[in-house]
Amino acid sequence: MAGRLDGKVAIVTGAGSGIGKAIAERFHREGAAVVVVDLKADRAEAVASELGDRAVPIAADVTRPEDNQRAVATAVQRFGKLDIFMGNAGVFDGFLSLPQYQTPDQLVEMFDRLFAVNVKGYLLGAYAAVPELLKTQGTLLFTASTAGFYTNQGGIIYTMSKHAVVGLIRELAYELAPKIRVNGIAPGGTFTDLRNAIPLGAEFGDPDKRSLFDMPGLDQFIIQSTPLRRVNRPEDHAAVAAFLASDDAAGLTGVIVHCDGGYGIRGA
Ligand code: NAD
Repeated sequence: MAGRLDGKVAIVTGAGSGIGKAIAERFHREGAAVVVVDLKADRAEAVASELGDRAVPIAADVTRPEDNQRAVATAVQRFGKLDIFMGNAGVFDGFLSLPQYQTPDQLVEMFDRLFAVNVKGYLLGAYAAVPELLKTQGTLLFTASTAGFYTNQGGIIYTMSKHAVVGLIRELAYELAPKIRVNGIAPGGTFTDLRNAIPLGAEFGDPDKRSLFDMPGLDQFIIQSTPLRRVNRPEDHAAVAAFLASDDAAGLTGVIVHCDGGYGIRGA
């Protein structure tokens, strides 16, 4: 059976781990050639070599314009074009509320670092990809979050960043129509390696092991607050991303699919 993305060329950022890795795997399984972008070279290489044919790794920092340009140039050089750019690389803020910041410097550092990845990284990726996507009538996709819509899905800075991602998706969908479709996914809590943008000190555990999901009891918190009583897996989000990237979604733009087990339709 033909794959839904046969003949397409995709870039996925943050594809070395978690949701991005699952998306790269799914896009590839659906027939796409995939440029696997991650800050960590070993992760990008491991995913690309696991995929094998039709995959190339790139160690790149999405906060740098030249790294985004390099990813797009690689897609074109290696596979001849670009059809799908999936901005996904992101970092977290450890659920810190505003008063929990110990100094203004810590607040500024978290803001600058987190917004550089979660917001500027997506903007720079879109900027680099659009000229090629105009040629293919391609598509932009971004990983937002329940934090783009609701409170207490992150701390103040992460929540602000994901609200900005919602604005990015909606405005770009308007600006780039009718040639480029722009959509997003909004995962709820998902067990990955999601890291804080800056080290948050001893009370948040060993700095080398500060994934969000090292927080004790988080799985029960997600299950209890989710109508479907489940923690979605990266593969659940990847299935939605593959649909949005495919021609089956030719009539959709400015859409953000809430991959959150019904979090947003809870009663009071
Ligand atoms: P993850 O840490 O498992 O994967 C993110 C990847 O991005 C890592 O491999 C990391 O090395 C890479 N990365 C970080 N900074 C980068 C940079 N500057 N340049 C290039 N790559 C960089 O985390 P994840 O949970 O899979 O996160 C993926 C996306 O999903 C993020 O945008 C995150 O905000 C979003 N999200 C996650 C959850 C969740 O509960 N895990 C929920 C909603 C949204």
